[in-house]
Amino acid sequence: MKTQEQEHILIIGAGLCGSLLALRMAQRGYKVTLMEKRPDLRKEIVDSGRSINLAFSDRGMKGLRLAGLEDKVLPLCIPMNGRMIHNAEGQLFMSPYSGRNEYINSISREDLNIMLLDECDKMPAIKMQFNQKCTGVNIETAQATFEDHKTGETITYQADVVMGADGVGSALRKSMLEHRKFLFSYGQDFLTHGYKELSFPPKADGEFLVEKNALHIWPRGKDMMIALPNLDGSFTVTLFLSWEEGKDSFDSLNTDEAVLDYFKREYPDALALMPDLLTEFKENPTSPLGTIKCSPWHAYGKVLLLGDAAHGIVPFYGQGMNSAFEDIYVLDQYLDQYAGDWKTVFKAYQEERKEDTDAIADLAVDNFHEMKAHTARPIFQEKRKLEIAFEEAFPTEYFSKYALVTFREDLRYSEAMRRGRVQDKAILNLIYDGKFTKDMSLRTKLDLMKQETRKMLHDE
Ligand code: FAD
Repeated sequence: MKTQEQEHILIIGAGLCGSLLALRMAQRGYKVTLMEKRPDLRKEIVDSGRSINLAFSDRGMKGLRLAGLEDKVLPLCIPMNGRMIHNAEGQLFMSPYSGRNEYINSISREDLNIMLLDECDKMPAIKMQFNQKCTGVNIETAQATFEDHKTGETITYQADVVMGADGVGSALRKSMLEHRKFLFSYGQDFLTHGYKELSFPPKADGEFLVEKNALHIWPRGKDMMIALPNLDGSFTVTLFLSWEEGKDSFDSLNTDEAVLDYFKREYPDALALMPDLLTEFKENPTSPLGTIKCSPWHAYGKVLLLGDAAHGIVPFYGQGMNSAFEDIYVLDQYLDQYAGDWKTVFKAYQEERKEDTDAIADLAVDNFHEMKAHTARPIFQEKRKLEIAFEEAFPTEYFSKYALVTFREDLRYSEAMRRGRVQDKAILNLIYDGKFTKDMSLRTKLDLMKQETRKMLHDE
């Protein structure tokens, strides 16, 4: 049997998950080969085809902290303290993410990926190769085949273990699906909405055109737009709109007039900040949004899927990358326990993790509806105000569903979902039924809420 130092892990995909995974595996003493189909984004301009910036929060930090990168990532972050809601009447109001001063961060995908690749470069145990597209994996023998984008040459590499961090279109997952010697479940579920990225430029002096420390949302019931700040003073704006259904859709916005008319009607304050709207609308791609679930994530103790390759989710909880980084944290714990026995490591890892990534996938779809429609409704705003008041007054006692999912990195997603959903239902029922009276103290309201939650949990 090989020692850990001799064992060779081949990782497909040097995106966010693959580069952190490579680093952590090398830190644990393995020999790592990291293969990426795109060019090295530190040397060439690479269109990632994905969101330009991301919401980065505590679960993601847990993964980076494990690799000793907390100090490296903080300078890349812009704190966002809450949602700045831009309602249809043009009014703005800030809805904090928490009553405990907790916040999430906006981070550039490229800056984060570059930082991770630079860290990989410092590890002699990691060999990185770019322009190498995986075309298939023999999942019984851990042999992976790559086509060199520049020379067209095809090479097959032998590893002890192959890990697929190659995103939603994973080549490893495809090889597992086509293997047919074991039962592999696979499902993908697309939303009727797609997304397009647009932008607000910085002011001439490099400052931000709207509040910097917020995630801006324009909820419009059927559609929505969001904007996250970038370090250069610009914002990346994402429009979520139906592909073809309804009055307004990507299909129907097919002329400059139609685009302008739609933005004048729905997002007039944003339109005033978008000098390049028509060019960006035409030139930037419209992309789909989907959930991918599959099982098993591993086979023969030779291959394992992680990150989006194992569980692609829609972006409405801002947890795709965060959950991918948390994957690495959870895997690492099983390596502490069972290193040397990959089959057991992979099995135990999936047994714990699948329930949690299924939970965040479902929560993310729920949040799509919450963000585009509910955030603008008075009952939802009343609920959020009460939750913030509970969190401010009783910071160790009350955590909203959002806080359980986003800030309680000690809690599994599945548990955050279970507690959060029941709590949401309880609080909405109590508001709707007029049970929270004006003269009631906050303490009494919280006790009533807890009582209702306990009753509902008991009835589950
Ligand atoms: P990827 O980032 O897709 O990386 C996969 C890598 O593998 C890429 O570098 C790719 O080039 C490479 N690759 C692919 N195929 C091959 C192959 N055959 N051979 C070799 N290499 C290959 N998450 C958050 O946490 N917060 C957010 O706010 C957020 N916002 C989002 C907004 C949008 C619009 C979208 C689409 C996603 C968002 N996400 C967010 C999700 C996040 O982008 C993903 O969860 C994250 O990128 C997953 O990382 P990954 O490394 O698993 O996959």
